[in-house]
Amino acid sequence: MRLKVAVLAGDGIGPEVTREATNILRAVAELGGHDFTFVEGLIGGVAITETGTPLPTATVDASLDSDAVLLGAVGDNKFNSLTPDKRPEAGLLQIRQALGGFANLRPSVGYKALSASSPLRPEVTEGVDILFVRELLGGLYFGAPRWWNKESNEAINTMRYTRDEVVRVARVAFELASKRRKKVTSVDKANVLEVSQLWRATVTEIAKDYPDVTLEHQLVDSMAMHIMNVPRNFDVVLTENLFGDILSDEAGVITGSLGMLPSATVGGAVNLYEPVHGSAPDIAGTGKANPLGAILTAAMVLRHSAGLEQDARAVEQAVFKVLEAGYRTADIARGGENIQLVSTQEMGKHVHQALAESIDRRQALHAV
Ligand code: NAD
Repeated sequence: MRLKVAVLAGDGIGPEVTREATNILRAVAELGGHDFTFVEGLIGGVAITETGTPLPTATVDASLDSDAVLLGAVGDNKFNSLTPDKRPEAGLLQIRQALGGFANLRPSVGYKALSASSPLRPEVTEGVDILFVRELLGGLYFGAPRWWNKESNEAINTMRYTRDEVVRVARVAFELASKRRKKVTSVDKANVLEVSQLWRATVTEIAKDYPDVTLEHQLVDSMAMHIMNVPRNFDVVLTENLFGDILSDEAGVITGSLGMLPSATVGGAVNLYEPVHGSAPDIAGTGKANPLGAILTAAMVLRHSAGLEQDARAVEQAVFKVLEAGYRTADIARGGENIQLVSTQEMGKHVHQALAESIDRRQALHAV
């Protein structure tokens, strides 16, 4: 298997966690005999410092010429006085636009070993495995008209979707559900909003093409409660842009730390993979950054861009094992027995070791 990955490490802890994620991808390539190549690109504050712009053309070109883009994080306080279009974060919005992905995938997993890190009770979070599929290019964030009239003290945003926009994201959700626990929960506000009625009718129609997948509809307000009360009931959660933004952040509480959350944006020219967290300037350079969100993001690269499902699972299992063994970065070091505090790099090494053992075992089984 050949895979070319553009690595945009960015600012703050971005390079620290991205190094561990690419080490894991290199290990998968080496252990499985795959040909993965990596090209580096500048983005964010580091790109402004070196080139004067948060997203140089060379980075866009290298990204579009790759099979996957792995991004660390952007953001540097020293650029806070610049206007939003010149700041490091502008690079992030621009690369998302250039790649054009319309479906944002965000898993939310409840790890038994991390139950003390979540404010929810262990019996609620344990065994949770939700995959949010959030529509990313439509809805209230992009709909026109949009304005704020400061004289009349009136403002407007527009929630707008076309049938085609709903169809394409719904298909992503049903395809993914058919490889998981075969359930899609579509979230809308169809009791009030016409745009949600279109959403619901379209998703119901698309569901007919996936007879092995169960479809249920939930209203967004009650869904916000169900996610906290009975998160185990959900497999793939499909929703529009604003609802997905809010619900996927809410579900982040299940895992317990921002440093644990991966994401992928698919459907565009090239898929974009990034941990959910930012550049965390408060801990950059201290070795305290949790690399597991970035490593789990690397697992998503394997699953969604390389088609290496077994290897993706092996990485996820390695993370699971390392947590069960008690290794913790500072952000997840609450509660539990036999906890061993480790640095970013040490955490990466432990995952690497657990991964190598599991791939060795798999190869030994194949050889028998
Ligand atoms: P942040 O996610 O960087 O940090 C929030 C808190 O979580 C901090 O206390 C931080 O130390 C902690 N944290 C985050 N990731 C962690 C990890 N992997 N391990 C351990 N702890 C971790 O959010 P913020 O502080 O609001 O923003 C900092 C900068 O990052 C800003 O410039 C912001 O614009 C930018 N940002 C970038 C992205 C992105 O690149 N996708 C996302 C959010 C924020």
